[in-house]
Amino acid sequence: MNTLPRKYAFNWDVIGTDVQEARPALGLYTSFEVYRLLQFTLRDVLESRYGTKAADEIFREAGTLAGKAFFERYCADATDIPSLVKTIQQEFRTLGIGIVRFEKTDTKTMTFQLTVDEDLDCSGLPDTSDHICVYDEGFIKGIFDSFTGKDFTVQEVDCWCSGARTCRFKATLP
Ligand SMILES: [Zn+2]
Repeated sequence: MNTLPRKYAFNWDVIGTDVQEARPALGLYTSFEVYRLLQFTLRDVLESRYGTKAADEIFREAGTLAGKAFFERYCADATDIPSLVKTIQQEFRTLGIGIVRFEKTDTKTMTFQLTVDEDLDCSGLPDTSDHICVYDEGFIKGIFDSFTGKDFTVQEVDCWCSGARTCRFKATLP
């Protein structure tokens, strides 16, 4: 953390909350191409300035911030893991983030494995040997960290881009 003055510290108010006022004709939604255009141009600039590793770290950290904001806005009513899981599934679908399935939910060890089909960040991208959804790793971490007050490690173990045609994430406590 640095001590530079902040102009853009995130909270929901900075992006505007009244869609009727903001976009009376166009409404809430845009295309996934426009979303990816923002993500991938930002990533391009970050990578060329700071290198791949730092760009990934920045994306993961931003994802964590987003996951925490998502939790505050959409998951406030979740009282236990099953209700959190249900809320994540519903909201990811409604918001067009992806189709979530939980493959493993071990509340004793707090180990979770989930897949995200049709993932907003990577579904349909050309094959690489890479797992590229570092923003999603952070996003899922942000949700679980917020709910539990703990510090999860989330790793993407399969990705559309690595040939799996879904993104699979493992969330564990260190
Ligand atoms: Zn992926």
